[in-house]
Amino acid sequence: ASVFAGIAQAPEDPILGVTVAFNKDPSPVKVNLGVGAYRTEEGKPLVLNVVRCAEQMLINDPSRYKEYLPITGLAEFNKLSAKLIFGADSPAIQENRVVTVQCLSGTGSLRVGGEFLAKHYHEHTIYIPTPTWGNHPKIFTLAGLTARTYRYYDPATRGLDFNGLVEDLSSAPLGSIVLLHACAHNPTGVDPTVDQWEKIRQLMRSKSLLPFFDSAYQGFASGSLDKDAQPVRMFVADGGELLMAQSYAKNMGLYGERVGALSIVCGSADVAVRVESQLKLVIRPMYSSPPLHGPSVVATILRDSEMFNEWTVELKAMADRIISMRQQLFDALKSRGGSVWLV
Ligand code: PLP
Repeated sequence: ASVFAGIAQAPEDPILGVTVAFNKDPSPVKVNLGVGAYRTEEGKPLVLNVVRCAEQMLINDPSRYKEYLPITGLAEFNKLSAKLIFGADSPAIQENRVVTVQCLSGTGSLRVGGEFLAKHYHEHTIYIPTPTWGNHPKIFTLAGLTARTYRYYDPATRGLDFNGLVEDLSSAPLGSIVLLHACAHNPTGVDPTVDQWEKIRQLMRSKSLLPFFDSAYQGFASGSLDKDAQPVRMFVADGGELLMAQSYAKNMGLYGERVGALSIVCGSADVAVRVESQLKLVIRPMYSSPPLHGPSVVATILRDSEMFNEWTVELKAMADRIISMRQQLFDALKSRGGSVWLV
């Protein structure tokens, strides 16, 4: 007998469940298209050479301990992460208006940001695109926000439903939160053009809509870290406020290390200090403090210009291979006469 005897069997996660089914499938020619994890030509996971080097350096450094990190994580990692997404010359960083806390990859950053907003922001509705990454509505609902949707993808054009997007954001209540995929929109792969981003920015600022960027693929869309960060930097350049969830799972191949960051760009340095103090109160009872290994690897790479350059080369190689694999799949399906579209 069990006190849990009445418990119902929960369904598998729609994405991670594909991996469960994949592992069970005895077929020798199976391919797992569920989780978005990079694979080599041989179908194997890849640890970047620059990551292996950084890990070796960390192992060989006898001055390193396994002490707890502060609640907000590794300070140097946080600084470097903000620089990576907002740009080294970002006025918001120079004016100390950015608070960054290390979180458990992209998911943890979204969750901490969501809980912070539920506790401290006057508007609890967050608009998410249709479609979006399946975890978004669950993360924000459990954080205490109300998830609503805005139109994003148009199946007829297999592109952005820009008019639908503008209509839906125009009719959102003043001050609503809007989740934006910074680049490489998941699952459609459709991103607004720079021109469209500019119009979205103007519309959002005119209605005081609060941007919450999800950046899980910086560098993967174009192969360039700076180019993929451009939409975000346009929003920071206007002096307005926003939230930013960053993940190193894909672009540094650190999936299981759970390394990411939440940044909040605030209106003033004074507000940023108080925002950080409240973020600590969100994090402390959730997991106390974040892990040490992942951010140490990232900081080792980002602080050293040679290692950073090596990373950008390896990142570009991953992005190029993804782009080429998609094209080949598209061509192969088309040559077989199927009705296909490239996302
Ligand atoms: N956001 C988007 C759009 C994603 O596709 C993913 C992962 O697939 C994440 C966030 C979060 O990933 P992680 O928590 O592994 O960083």
